[in-house]
Amino acid sequence: IWSNVEMGPPDAILGVSEAFKKDKSPNKMNLGVGAYRDDNGKPYVLPSVRKAEDIIRSKNLDKEYLGITGLAEFTKASAILAFGDNCDAIKNKRNVTAQGISGTGSLRIGANFLSKFYPGVKEVWLPKPSWGNHTPIFKHAGIEVKQYRYYDPSTCGFDAKGAYEDISKIPENSIILLHACAHNPTGVDPKPDQWKELSQIIKSRKLFPFFDMAYQGFASGNIDNDAAAVRMFVNEGHNIALAQSYAKNMGLYGERVGAFTLICESEEEAKRCESQLKIIIRPMYSNPPLSGPRIASTILNTAELRSQWLTEVKGMADRIITMRSQLVENLKKEGSSHNWQHITDQIGMFCFTGLKPDQVARITEEFSVYLTKDGRISVAGISSKNNAYLAHAIHTVSK
Ligand code: PMP
Repeated sequence: IWSNVEMGPPDAILGVSEAFKKDKSPNKMNLGVGAYRDDNGKPYVLPSVRKAEDIIRSKNLDKEYLGITGLAEFTKASAILAFGDNCDAIKNKRNVTAQGISGTGSLRIGANFLSKFYPGVKEVWLPKPSWGNHTPIFKHAGIEVKQYRYYDPSTCGFDAKGAYEDISKIPENSIILLHACAHNPTGVDPKPDQWKELSQIIKSRKLFPFFDMAYQGFASGNIDNDAAAVRMFVNEGHNIALAQSYAKNMGLYGERVGAFTLICESEEEAKRCESQLKIIIRPMYSNPPLSGPRIASTILNTAELRSQWLTEVKGMADRIITMRSQLVENLKKEGSSHNWQHITDQIGMFCFTGLKPDQVARITEEFSVYLTKDGRISVAGISSKNNAYLAHAIHTVSK
């Protein structure tokens, strides 16, 4: 029956990992996939996560179904983590927060809700470029996808002028997607005054802001700093949507822990939206998984574990920042004449190196360094042991 089914292309990022696995070189580096590695290049389970797991195990909890919107202790703590302790919208119960299947599932709940109920233009405007999965997530939910200028290849930085111009022309009442911090794939974020400007333009165009926050804490090492744009928008009166992921900041990748929040006009409106979110979620997966959110909730709701976790998040962010500056130092030692300042200016897990597709092909071929064709590297995949090797490889293909 399936003779009509054509072979689909492999996933762009997961395809890089497959090629990496086959490579026999002892020097090979996988800078494709966005997963944190320690300085020995090994996956890192946060000690706070291990402790939370011990606490949970000692309680001998049952494994009954969660409600459709998930574990209440988790969703409550998740909203506070994003919006802060002093957020009026949260205090006045103007939020509805539903547990999602990590960041992707949370985005998908939001996309489906907007597709069904958003009264404006069913178009979402993504930064150019954006995380590759944003387009199919929204398209599959029946929302058209457009792009606004974001990244300036000539500076490897934020194209503020282009972004302001494009956003000023987006049809009124459309949806705009914003990366809350540590933009993927570019590592380029607007500065605080640029966020202010964006907020003003978005307000004057009556756009609906949908924030994707997959890296809270990962950009600066501080969860409050990294949530500053989201909080500023809410303070400025935007009723936003937000997708959160705990894949990176708690290292809970495969546990699939996330949350979707809508900030509404009133508690009554939030209740109505919640009832409809349940109707959307129920036929998708009935109710969300239990183990991951128990871990996140134990960390967020236990003072001592929470502060331990914050230190560990900072540790991960700091290691990435150190790898960036070492890479620039090593490129200088190699004698590279290019300006690599964007490597340290950019933040978060990823760096848009500026390497062209032919240079990417060459660095993989000659040095077994694996990255996506767009020149993006996951800085979290570099260690102090292979940093100089990478600099040598980058210099060789870019001189
Ligand atoms: N949004 C962005 C921008 C991301 O980079 C990612 C992770 N690659 C996600 C969302 C979601 O990831 P996950 O579903 O694993 O939480």
